Amino acid sequence: GLSERLNKVFSSLRGKGKLSEDDIRTVMREVRMALLEADVNFDVVKSFIKQVRERALGAEVMESLTPSQQVVKIVDDELTKLMGTEAVPLNKAPHIPTIIMMVGLQGAGKTTTAGKLAKHLMENDKARPLFIAGDVYRPAAIEQLKTIGEQLDVPVYDEGTDQDPVEIVKSGLAQAHEKKNDYVIIDTAGRLEIDEKLMDELKRIKELAQPNEILFVADSMTGQVAAKVAAGFDEQLDITGVVLTKLDGDTRGGAALSIRSVTGKPIKFIGQGEKLDQLDVFHPDRMANRILGMGDMLTLIEKAQQDYDQKQAQDMAQKIKENSFDFNDFIDQMDQIQKMGPLDEIMKMIPGMANNPALANVNIDEKDISHLKAIVYSMTPQEREDPKLLNPSRRRRIASGSGRSVQEVNRMIKQFKQSQDMMKQMSKGNMKGMDQMLGN
Ligand code: GDP
Ligand code: MG
Repeated sequence: GLSERLNKVFSSLRGKGKLSEDDIRTVMREVRMALLEADVNFDVVKSFIKQVRERALGAEVMESLTPSQQVVKIVDDELTKLMGTEAVPLNKAPHIPTIIMMVGLQGAGKTTTAGKLAKHLMENDKARPLFIAGDVYRPAAIEQLKTIGEQLDVPVYDEGTDQDPVEIVKSGLAQAHEKKNDYVIIDTAGRLEIDEKLMDELKRIKELAQPNEILFVADSMTGQVAAKVAAGFDEQLDITGVVLTKLDGDTRGGAALSIRSVTGKPIKFIGQGEKLDQLDVFHPDRMANRILGMGDMLTLIEKAQQDYDQKQAQDMAQKIKENSFDFNDFIDQMDQIQKMGPLDEIMKMIPGMANNPALANVNIDEKDISHLKAIVYSMTPQEREDPKLLNPSRRRRIASGSGRSVQEVNRMIKQFKQSQDMMKQMSKGNMKGMDQMLGN
């Protein structure tokens, strides 16, 4: 697969002191393929590669990263930057109601997303939304919205299929003012492709409703087509944001990159399933990882770079190799965990480690870390280095010394042993992953 190809290239670069133009070219060839395979628009790919190549050539290799990681990081940074760097929240009107208009092709997920948004707003903003059924061309569309309304206990304003949707929206807004709904979500009709009649109708609705948010809903499975359609809608309606649906499928999400670079408008949410709670805030960095198809390797690099003391990490790796992991290391590990999040989570990000059975038993609650430390500090240096010394009377002494219960001390020692087992497993099985993480 592609990510293996990339990994191969990256590992072939590992250990070189400086990136040559050739090296960058090799990596970029793979990145280019990755993007095209993710169905990113060709022009977008071209300009992206150019930009990254320039940056990579000029860049100094950071001390904390290998040259290969450095290239991955640059690629990832630029990809994230291209998609907007940070999650952009929904616009909100200064006075209620905030009006959200859903637009997009038929089947993109407008009606479903209207429901998801209502649920999201109710849960996060205690919203009292109203739906307006503006898709009058298919009776089933109104029924669909009503079913969603019933599920969420959200009222639906509709006038069946006979009225002009602009009139329906007008009366719907009047009702929202009267009932003091704080959000109005207007569902609109779509077509299988952009046509003039549809755009005219949407423009008239926009003019009347003056929405705070015009969300273009795009089916991520349609890849490059989605970008073309987005450009068309943006040109006509000046959309304010994008929702990318059906990312639960096997699409790599190249549409996100294309739509963003073609329209310049932020992707605000992603849909990851048919159910109403399957809506998530869009995170450019996560999407970049997905598009590159490198799992969470990039997250790992970021974390490693930010939080890991290289020297300490290498010492730890050595200990693991030598199987001499003791309570002093345990304390170091606790410090690392406090800095960078739970160890089991970190480990799971290493390719090939996610299903390692050794991880199944490891469960370290960050809240308890200071207690765990107190316990270790109450041990003698000999006890720290040789946990086998810890008989019941020593455990009682440690408990009273640290102000924790004997049960807690026992539990902690058990946890330590699990940690030790995991380290043994790793030194037998998967040092490759650890080496990668440590940049060896
Ligand atoms: P509309 O024509 O734009 O209003 O699209 P609908 O909301 O009716 O959705 C079309 C189909 O796509 C329906 O079967 C939805 O259940 C499905 N759908 C919408 N969003 C998602 C999503 O994020 N994931 C999946 N798997 N299906 C979705
Ligand atoms: Mg619909």
